[in-house]
Amino acid sequence: MQFDAELLLLALAPVFLACIGWEAWHLARTRPQARLYNWYDTVCNAALALMHQSADKLAWLAVVPVYAYVYRHFRVIDWHPGWLAFAALFVAQDLLYYVFHRCSHRVRWFWAAHVVHHSSSRLNLSTAFRQSLMYPIAGMWAFWTPLAVLGFPPKQIVAIVLINLAFQFFVHTQAIGKLGWLEYVFNTPSIHRVHHACNPRYIDRNYAGVLVIWDRLFGTYVEEDPLEAPQYGIVEPLDTYNPLKATFHEWGSMFSDVARARGLGNKLRALFGPPEWATAFHAEHARTVESDRAGLKSTGTPSRT
Ligand SMILES: [Zn+2]
Ligand SMILES: [Zn+2]
Repeated sequence: MQFDAELLLLALAPVFLACIGWEAWHLARTRPQARLYNWYDTVCNAALALMHQSADKLAWLAVVPVYAYVYRHFRVIDWHPGWLAFAALFVAQDLLYYVFHRCSHRVRWFWAAHVVHHSSSRLNLSTAFRQSLMYPIAGMWAFWTPLAVLGFPPKQIVAIVLINLAFQFFVHTQAIGKLGWLEYVFNTPSIHRVHHACNPRYIDRNYAGVLVIWDRLFGTYVEEDPLEAPQYGIVEPLDTYNPLKATFHEWGSMFSDVARARGLGNKLRALFGPPEWATAFHAEHARTVESDRAGLKSTGTPSRT
């Protein structure tokens, strides 16, 4: 019987759950005041994981034939199966993950899906489960298409994407400090804590999947400073444990901004600009509403609020 790579994350679920159990127990003993776990938050994360897994399973059905078509007609290399081919696949996919992840933070269309992963104000191993079922709609799958051009068959593409994601589960923890020389090569808990922080000096840094060399190479690396604790969450906080609201709130906000924005340039910025464009737009909108209200009050027109 052949192992179905698409089920890798489900197959690892018992390991993930055991680690979450250990971390919750460990943190409750060592940092009881911090309350790093919250039942509502953890259940919401688990629901998001199940929703994401279901959407992903469907998405693979649709996109594997696309990879197969590109592999058949446009591949430029024929690899001999072995360690060299695996190493090339691993490094190429990890670099593409860096590109995908950086786009996910700098282009609102992709952020609308990725924000789910960042919208909790907590960080623990269960945060790794916070994923969006909208990734296939946003087009995450397109970032892996170059792997088919490089000569890797669809099954290997699916497998390496999921191996990368499985690795990343282990970096979502506050229970582990810095890891010496590993910090120079691999994404680690310390490096990824910075990634989940919204402190001005930490935000939009450390996009690594498995290897941190891309951040160091492309200037997006920031080290965790013991004197500045990460503030987890997003700039415009989302106070909900509802997985549907967590999944769709940014899509709703994005399309309502498109409708409200004046001119084609601003409408395109609402879709493809950086997320801070939206933050500034919302602040401007709130100011306009406030000054309209003040204007109405000063002219004596009754206000509804
Ligand atoms: Zn991210
Ligand atoms: Zn993360």
